[in-house]
Order: sequence, then structure tokens, then C-alpha cells
Amino acid sequence: MSQKVDIAGVKFDAVRYDDVITAVEVFVSQTHQKHMIATPNPEMVVDASQRNSFKNLLNSTAMLVPDGIGILWASYYLSLPYKKNRVTEWVQRWSSLLKVFFKHSDIYSILPQRVTGSDLLFKIVDASQRNHWQIYLLGAAPGIASIAIDRLLQKYPDAIFAGSFAGTPAETHEDELCERINQAQPDILFVAYGSPAQEEWIHRNLDKLDTVKVAIGVGGAIDFAAGKAKRAPNWMQKMGLEWLWRLIRQPRRYKRIWNATFRFIKLIRKYKKVCHQVEKKAKA
Ligand code: UDP
Repeated sequence: MSQKVDIAGVKFDAVRYDDVITAVEVFVSQTHQKHMIATPNPEMVVDASQRNSFKNLLNSTAMLVPDGIGILWASYYLSLPYKKNRVTEWVQRWSSLLKVFFKHSDIYSILPQRVTGSDLLFKIVDASQRNHWQIYLLGAAPGIASIAIDRLLQKYPDAIFAGSFAGTPAETHEDELCERINQAQPDILFVAYGSPAQEEWIHRNLDKLDTVKVAIGVGGAIDFAAGKAKRAPNWMQKMGLEWLWRLIRQPRRYKRIWNATFRFIKLIRKYKKVCHQVEKKAKA
């Protein structure tokens, strides 16, 4: 069991990619159990802070991995002593944010690694070669998942894909999608419908999927694997600037990016204050 880290009520697992692969190996070997892994980013934490049902759904999953440097920043910032004075709080907050840009080790002191859905897709496909897992890709625009499969097979020739289908996250299509997936008999299902649709889809349907042992919501990962969308250059990812890359490439996402940055920072600041007040009350 990994250590849980509470970020505004969403309880993340302090894990690295290798730990997730080990957990998937255990999950797939458990005959009668099914597990969901979610990859929340700051935007999803903001969403969860506004909707208890979504927060509870995320916290009920087998594993929550931090998909976003903002989550790692929050874990570090929340671990620092509470500052009552506005100026010292401001200095503390901005100096902790600056550490993100300089990839300072403090940022990785609580949650050890950023574990993205996009990289997880590649790493699990790689691990599937030695474990003989069959993989199914659900979601992304029609035709994109089969391009992703072709490209993944070039890189991981021993991987086995049980199938793929675009479909839609609409509840009216669920039975048809479950039927398709059941016919393909995969062990692992990746769902790319964006959040919260993909997590809600998995939550509603996992029990209906006969052979699936692990289901993971991966957002735009199939688009990236197909080469349809380009990920930020490595230096930008390392500096925690993937959101800026997405803003430049897809300006229509500005509202989502606002939520993932400024709104998220405001939420975490408020959460730190609430935690401090609760602690103070408990001590009194
Ligand atoms: N998508 C889909 N059907 C829908 C809505 C979204 O297949 O009804 C797909 C979309 O094509 C994309 C993915 O869901 O491949 C979501 O990507 P996005 O970049 O929004 O996810 P993020 O990485 O930001 O979570």
C-alpha cells in the first residue's frame, strides 16, 4: 500500500511509474477483482472540490496518480508550515512556485514523480509485452485509436491489442460498448473521453466488463500516441509549463487552463488555511 497524500480532499498515491506497473501486475493477477486507476490533474481537483460525487468517485478508485506538476507543487506547499501573515504567506507561496520552474528536489519530496496518463499508456503497453496482457483502447475521434495501435506496435511489437473503438461516453451507448469490449476480452482498458466523462464511464461500467481487470482514464493519451496531438517539448514538461504549451496550441482551452492554474492555486491556498483551522481546533 502506498502512502496517501491529501490534495484538497483528493487522496493521491505517492507512487512512481514502476510502482503503478507493479500494482497493475498484482491487479491483473487477481481473478475476481476489478480496479480503476485515475490520473487527476489540477483541473480535476478543482472539479472534485465543487462536486462531492466526483471527489468520492476519485477517492474510491484503486489508485490515484498525480498527472500534473501542479499536484506535486500542492503536495509540497501543503506540507509547509502555515503562515498567518499575508506577506510571509505570499513569499512562501511564490518561492514554492518558483521551485517548480527550477525542478527543485523539494517539489518531489512528498509525491515523488509526476505520473501522466499519456506516459502511463506507453509504459503499460511496454509491460504488457512480458505479461501477455491484452489491451483495448476506447475513445478519441473515430480512426485515431487504430493509428495509435499501429504506432504503438512499431515501438512494442510484442504487445497485444484486443481492439479499439471510438464510441461516445453517452449512457445510451453503454450497453453496446460493453458488448463490444466483452467480445474482445481485454485485460486492460484505456478510456479516453476526457474528464470527468471517462472516470464516470468506468465507474458505471467496470462491473459489466467480464474480462477487464484494470481500467484507466487517460484523457488525450490516445491522440498523443497516434501523433494527432503533439506533447510539449521535454524542457517545457520539466519546467511544469505543459499548460502553457496547450494554451498556445489550443487557445480555446483557456478556461480549462485558468482552472488548472490560478483557480487551482487559490483552492490550495484556501485548503491550507482550512486544514490549519481544523488542526488548531483539534488541539484546543
Ligand atoms: N473524446 C471522445 N468523445 C467525447 C469527448 C472526448 O472520444 O465525447 C476524446 C477526445 O477525442 C480526446 C479525449 O477524449 O481524445 C480528451 O482529450 P483532452 O485533451 O480533452 O483530455 P485531457 O488530456 O485534457 O484530459
